[in-house]
Amino acid sequence: MKLILLGPPGAGKGTQATRLVEKFGIPQLSTGDMLRAAVKAGTPVGLRAKAVMDAGGLVSDEIVVGIIADRVLEPDARNGFILDGFPRTVAQARALDELLARTGMKLDAIIELKVDEKALLARIENRARETIAAGGTVRADDNPEAFKVRLEQYRAQTAPVSAYYASRGSLKTVDGMASIEAVTRAIDSILAG
Ligand code: AMP
Repeated sequence: MKLILLGPPGAGKGTQATRLVEKFGIPQLSTGDMLRAAVKAGTPVGLRAKAVMDAGGLVSDEIVVGIIADRVLEPDARNGFILDGFPRTVAQARALDELLARTGMKLDAIIELKVDEKALLARIENRARETIAAGGTVRADDNPEAFKVRLEQYRAQTAPVSAYYASRGSLKTVDGMASIEAVTRAIDSILAG
């Protein structure tokens, strides 16, 4: 099972991806998680990405495409993967097409979680509260200033990715305002169909 989860920050991609990981035994490939790990480890990629990420901007296509190109070839991704947070630009979507063609891989589904923008900031703030309650560290970009930039980036750069897949007839849409359980059921039924 190879699939892409699309949607704005706070749409619930990570939550649903975690459930799909359990169901299908395939890894969640979150470019955000991988970049945060690189920042934490102080790698050259992390050093280049940190300031942009903290401000809510997008890391260069070249960096994220390179990360994904390596990651999908890891042994644990042989039976499939869930792309979460990638592709985020049309250039990334094109690069992914090339990568899939080159490696003989095919996507099974591209699913977009549609969420009312007005609900997103509250969800991000809630995520920060839950992280604190669990004793974790709040993401540097889970604050209203960076969130505003992330949403702008989403509108300008990532919404066209949905249009890119929709124009090929391969985009499925799920109501991300529904409960977590209902969203999971809607995704399950797309994947079963
Ligand atoms: P996320 O965890 O998906 O919300 O990503 C957190 C941050 O990592 C984003 O705001 C970007 O700065 C960066 N990032 C993650 N994925 C990508 C991507 N595909 N392209 C560019 N930047 C990304």
